[in-house]
Order: sequence, then C-alpha cells, then structure tokens
Amino acid sequence: MGWIFPRLLGAVLSVLLVGMLGRMIGSQFHWPVLGALVGAMSGAFAYSLVDVLRGQRFMEWLHRQDGNPAPRDAGFWGEAGYCVERSMRSLERQVATEQTRLEQFLSAIEASPNGVMLLDENDQIVWCNSVGADHFGLDPQRDRMQAITNLVRAPIFVAYMQAGVYDEAVSFPGPGSRGTVSVLIRPYGDGMKLILSQDITERERSDSMRRGFVANVSHEIRTPLTVLSGFIETMSSLKLTDVERRRVIELMAQQAQRMQLLVGDLLTLAQLEGSPRPGSDRWVPVRQLLTQVHASAEALSAGRHTLVFGSLSTTDGANDAIAGAEQELHSSIANLVNNAIRYTPSGGSVHVLWSIHSDGVGELEVRDTGLGIAKEHLPRLTERFYRVDGSRSRDTGGTGLGLSIVKHVAQRHGGELEISSEPGQGSSFKLLFPAARVRAAAKSSDSAGEVAQQPSTEEIHVGMS
Ligand code: ADP
Repeated sequence: MGWIFPRLLGAVLSVLLVGMLGRMIGSQFHWPVLGALVGAMSGAFAYSLVDVLRGQRFMEWLHRQDGNPAPRDAGFWGEAGYCVERSMRSLERQVATEQTRLEQFLSAIEASPNGVMLLDENDQIVWCNSVGADHFGLDPQRDRMQAITNLVRAPIFVAYMQAGVYDEAVSFPGPGSRGTVSVLIRPYGDGMKLILSQDITERERSDSMRRGFVANVSHEIRTPLTVLSGFIETMSSLKLTDVERRRVIELMAQQAQRMQLLVGDLLTLAQLEGSPRPGSDRWVPVRQLLTQVHASAEALSAGRHTLVFGSLSTTDGANDAIAGAEQELHSSIANLVNNAIRYTPSGGSVHVLWSIHSDGVGELEVRDTGLGIAKEHLPRLTERFYRVDGSRSRDTGGTGLGLSIVKHVAQRHGGELEISSEPGQGSSFKLLFPAARVRAAAKSSDSAGEVAQQPSTEEIHVGMS
C-alpha cells in the first residue's frame, strides 16, 4: 500500500503547482481565478496522461509475456509490475517443480518391467510406457489420443473393455509372434482407466512344463505300482509253487527298484534345481572320478563290452582336476557311462576320454559304438522323461531323467553337454568344463596327496572286461 500516499501527493501537487502557475499567468490578464482553474485542470490532465502512459506500458508488458522484467516505474504501476512479476516467477518455479516431478514419475513407470497405459474417459490413450506399447503393438507417440479398441482388436481384450467388469485379469495372444499378454484394468478418476499389462509367456510355459512333469511322474510311478499290486493280488489269491513264488518276488523286486531309481533321480534333480551353484574352490581329481565310475561300469557291463578309460591330457591327466561338487560330477559321468553301456549291444565298446583343449577347456567324452540316435531326437534328449525308445530305456532300468541331470550338472559348473550321434554307428556325449574350473596339475598338497594314492589314468586303461 506504499504507493497510495505518493500517488495522492503527486496528484495534489500537480493540481496545486500547475494551478498556481495558471493563476500567475491569469493575473497578467486580470483573470487569476480562471487562470488558477485552467492551471489546476491542466495539472490534473498532465498527471492523468503520465499515469495512462505508464498503465499502457504495463499492459503491453503483461500481454507480451516475453520473460522480460516488468517496467521499473515508480509508484502504483511500478509496484503492480513488481507484484505481478513476482507471482509469475513463483508460478513458473512451481510449474517447473511439478514438471520435474511428473517427468521423474513417468520415467519411473517407464522403467517398470510391466506395461502401463492411461486412458481418458473416451478410452483414448493418454500415455503409455514402451513396455505397454510393445505388449499391444502400439507406438507410444503416434497412437496417443487414439481409441484403444481401434488399435487393439484382440476379441478377448475388446470384450473385456466392453464388459466393464475388471475384477480379474485377462490373457490374450500378443501382437505378431509375441507370446501371451495378461492385462488388468483399474478404473480411476472420472471414467479414466489404468491398464497394466504383463508378458506371461514364460510363466505359461513353465506352468505347462510343471503340469507335464507332474503327469509324467505320476505315470512313471503308477506303472510299477500297478504291476506290484497285481503281483500282490496274485500272491494272496493263488496258491503258487516255490518256483513261481520266487519268480513273482523277483519281478516285484524289479518294480520296487525301478521306483527307487525314479525317486532317486527325482530327488537328485530337485536338489540340483534348489541348491546354489557349486563353488570353484573345491578341486575334484579327474582320475578319482574315472576310477569310481569305472568300477560300476564294469559291474553293469558284466564283460559284454570293451571299456576304455583314458586321458589325452598333456599331463596324462594324472593330476588334472575339475572345480565343483564331486557328487554331482560323479553322477553325471556315471549317467553317461551307464547309458553308453545300456544302449550298446554286447561286443560293442565304450570309451571314456579326458582331455584339456589348448584354450584350457576340459572335455570328458563318453563315446560308444551302440545303437546311435536319429538326428531329430538330439535336441530333445535332455528333456525330462524324453526317451527315444521307451521300452528299451525301461527294460534296462532307465528313468528318462539321466541326461536331464547331466545337463543340469554341466550348466551348474559353467559347462555344457555336447551330443553327436549316428543311428547304427554309436554316440558321443561330451561334457565341457570352462578353463576357470579346470586345472592341469594339482597345486594344493591336499589334493596332490589324494591323487598320489590313485593309480595313474593311463593305468586305468582297461581292455575287454
Ligand atoms: P534313460 O533313463 O531313458 O536312459 P536318459 O535321460 O539318460 O534317460 O536318456 C534319454 C534317452 O536318450 C534314452 O531314453 C535313450 O533313448 C537316449 N540315449 C541316451 N544315451 C544314449 C546312448 N549312449 N546311445 C543311444 N541312445 C541314448
């Protein structure tokens, strides 16, 4: 309010001063009162004119809105300009803060792994993050303010939008070759909608794998159980001779063993999936692994095959070691060797060879001269319960989980399983371990001691058993 007094004073002074001047001039012509009156009016007019000009300048500044400061006039217009400018600056700051906040908020939603889309009351796209755009096959810029149902024509989605009941999410095939997209709508504000979308292809795949796995396990267990209960019924209802009884018990034991093997492999798989990857600080001597596997291979083959265990390593493999879990490594090599024996007819041979590549990668190859596998089966061999020949697998005590376990173990050790085969020619299964998990000579005195008690890998070379 500081402008009121100077403004009144200015007006009064202009009227008085110019009025006095008019009176002095009027006195010359013997009309002092008229002169004073004309002078006072001229003073008031001049004062108003200056005021109008300042007001005009202020209004021009206000209309221009070019960011320049307000005219720095004294009095009313100066103060009005200052106040307006100050509130404009404060508003600008507020808008900038809100803008930054909005941008941060939108970039947070943009970073979300899920799709987010905002629709106005006419179901037009107001905003959409790139994940959401991808799920619906949209362009976040181009399709802005377009009605969503004009762009997304999937019948399930259109029906969901139209039904107006959004308690549950719906799933529909994504655009192009995308898998399945799940969408949930949340109404908000005055008829506006928030659409949340998620790519559930992977989840659906693992759900279906889990269902398939449970069905397979049930089937695998039900078969021996049915056979067992048949035998139990036979034994309880029929009078059997001693020979018959012995035969039935033998068959029952076979079925029980089959179930035991299956449960054992299932537990191994569950353990492999549920435990952390083996550390690389525990070195398992290769020769120790081969010696153990060799003993059980001999028993399984029972002299029907030529078994050759050897090393192509430059260090003779005597002190070579793999970093990892001994139990897992043993079970994967044993699985490969057992398969080689089971799928190789009598008279065939099985080679188990350890070598270290020039780049340090360790390779354990199990090669046989057996039945071989047709090309189309190779990519699916490591799937659980996948068998090329179901009856041969079961007859020889197979669970259909062996190669799945081997692949898991290889991956947990940072390695891989390579399979090559020719029907009628035999197969080769190679376990490849990364250089970081392979060493060509034992370094710690502990493992050196362990190795020293074993025969050299060359000595393990076995001819016809
Ligand atoms: P299984 O317990 O049936 O042997 P695996 O997972 O170990 O299950 O092997 C999967 C399938 O791969 C087997 O059923 C068999 O058909 C085939 N297979 C595995 N190893 C060999 C091999 N050395 N020679 C021929 N076929 C093999």
